[in-house]
Amino acid sequence: MGRVMIKCPNTGKLVFTGVLSAKSMFEKSTIKETKMPKCAACGKDHTWTKEQAILQE
Ligand SMILES: [Zn+2]
Repeated sequence: MGRVMIKCPNTGKLVFTGVLSAKSMFEKSTIKETKMPKCAACGKDHTWTKEQAILQE
């Protein structure tokens, strides 16, 4: 399983969204706007979509 990461818009750091996914599933999935509360980098809430996400294995 890989960890779905996004780049924090405030700090530019990669942060874990809390979503775990296998690569094959991630590539096929269509993730719409998902809320990520309490960003690990800046402490704020972010909303992200699949286009912004990076799968880290
Ligand atoms: Zn952030």
